Amino acid sequence: MPATYIIKCPSCGTGNRIPVEKEGTKGHCGNCKEVLPPLYFHPQQMSGHTFDSFINSYSGPVLAEFWAPT
Ligand SMILES: [Zn+2]
Repeated sequence: MPATYIIKCPSCGTGNRIPVEKEGTKGHCGNCKEVLPPLYFHPQQMSGHTFDSFINSYSGPVLAEFWAPT
């Protein structure tokens, strides 16, 4: 059975089941057809430039880990 995640619609609050292969793509709420923000199930490695643009355009919660090469 493929892994799925539940995303709550920001418009109507309905839980939508998102299959793991839809990572990074925008979906639509099954109830009100509003656009759902894309989900990322796996860590995305970013630079200082791509991090800023990602954070500014992403509407969902983000967990960030910062590191620097030694
Ligand atoms: Zn909805």
